[in-house]
Amino acid sequence: MSRSAHPAGPRHADVLPEGHYSAPPADLNALDPKVWAQTVTRDGDGVLTVGGIDVKSLAEEFGTPAYILDETDFRARARAWRTAFGQDADVFYAGKAFLSRAVVRWLHEEGLNLDVCSGGELATALSAGMPADRIAFHGNNKSPAEIRRAVEAGVGRIVLDSFQEIARVAHIAQELGKRQRVQIRITVGVEAHTHEFIATAHEDQKFGIPLAGGQAAEAVRRALQLDGLELIGIHSHIGSQIFDMSGFEVAAHRVVGLLKDIRDEHGVELPEIDLGGGLGIAYTSADDPREPHEIAKALTEIVTRECESARLRTPRISVEPGRAVVGPTAFTLYEVGTVKPLDGLRTYVSVDGGMSDNIRTALYDAEYSVALVSRASDAEPMLARVVGKHCESGDIVVKDAFLPADLAPGDLIAVPATGAYCRSMASNYNHALRPPVVAVKDGEARVIVRRETEDDLLRLDVG
Ligand SMILES: *Cc1c(COP(=O)(O)O)cnc(C)c1O
Repeated sequence: MSRSAHPAGPRHADVLPEGHYSAPPADLNALDPKVWAQTVTRDGDGVLTVGGIDVKSLAEEFGTPAYILDETDFRARARAWRTAFGQDADVFYAGKAFLSRAVVRWLHEEGLNLDVCSGGELATALSAGMPADRIAFHGNNKSPAEIRRAVEAGVGRIVLDSFQEIARVAHIAQELGKRQRVQIRITVGVEAHTHEFIATAHEDQKFGIPLAGGQAAEAVRRALQLDGLELIGIHSHIGSQIFDMSGFEVAAHRVVGLLKDIRDEHGVELPEIDLGGGLGIAYTSADDPREPHEIAKALTEIVTRECESARLRTPRISVEPGRAVVGPTAFTLYEVGTVKPLDGLRTYVSVDGGMSDNIRTALYDAEYSVALVSRASDAEPMLARVVGKHCESGDIVVKDAFLPADLAPGDLIAVPATGAYCRSMASNYNHALRPPVVAVKDGEARVIVRRETEDDLLRLDVG
């Protein structure tokens, strides 16, 4: 296993192997099912369809850019996670990946719980009818008002992130005459990215309370003493876009070690362990994510084995996939505006969106795939870079990709696997209007988040 060090924190990037695009794919019209949503295919004319609707009709009706979300695929993935973990575990969808009221209802119907990490996400969840006891509230700096709202609403758990917050939540719960169920988020010194992880004694990041130096044990001591809190478990989240289970193995070993110490010191066996999210998806054909059932089996085995050797009852496991549920279910549909060949370098393809609808490439050096979707083409492949329309040379959507050499203004292209951390991280840079999210299912398309308008922008600007 490779373990390479980099400063923790600022770049929780997707570290992918070099050289994905050394050679063009054999067939530029092919759609790799790993990176495209489940119902995506090309019709007889070579036009991409999703949920039975072709993208030319979608572009005509809803405009571009637009996020097109395959509801059938979303529900199937949510259900696969739920089924894989079974009745003795809980799956919390991480709302920060993408949250809307329609999504909350789908999650509710498919039996998933929901993580929120702000007052806005909590409001969205509650307004769409997610039962409060199925909501977990996260964040390293929840405001007193947010905490009060969560406790009043009766959220199933608040994940405590600091010593101040232990006191704050206990105080607010007591004021409200409640006993709030809580977990303590600890950092176990495991930082995992994609194909590698780093295991050290310390972890240099803002989230959680360090296991190192006895801090986590002290947090548990305090939480157990406070009347306003019911401590139900320990939480650990080790990274993002992870393919390798061995980081979870080290994390589970360390969390179970703490559970054992708690049993020995306080005589209590905490009933729950949350292993967080971070499970990887395929952004390009080079990525090989595991299926939910394989992940469930691996995580359950790890925790069970660790608990057996510590002579602990196996706690109820929860996981928090965000990207792995919603990421592959959507693609961004763009219209090509200009095509600019630079001799000996590559061809710059400008689309009608950019870093305002997908910041991940600029922020994390993330890799994406792209395809011409409004027609098939027999033209030769050209090395392309898909860029946006913003006033930034770093405004790149897909850094290196092969597209057909006859690509022209007016063509539609689509970037798959943009369901997670694209709309939710979208901005109004250059006063861009954030694109809609259109859900497609069984031949029907409906807007679940509408496109912003210039009126929306001007309403915020009160002069
Ligand atoms: C971000 C986050 C998740 C979800 O991460 P994904 O990579 O989308 O699976 C889960 N839990 C916590 C605590 C997080 O911060």
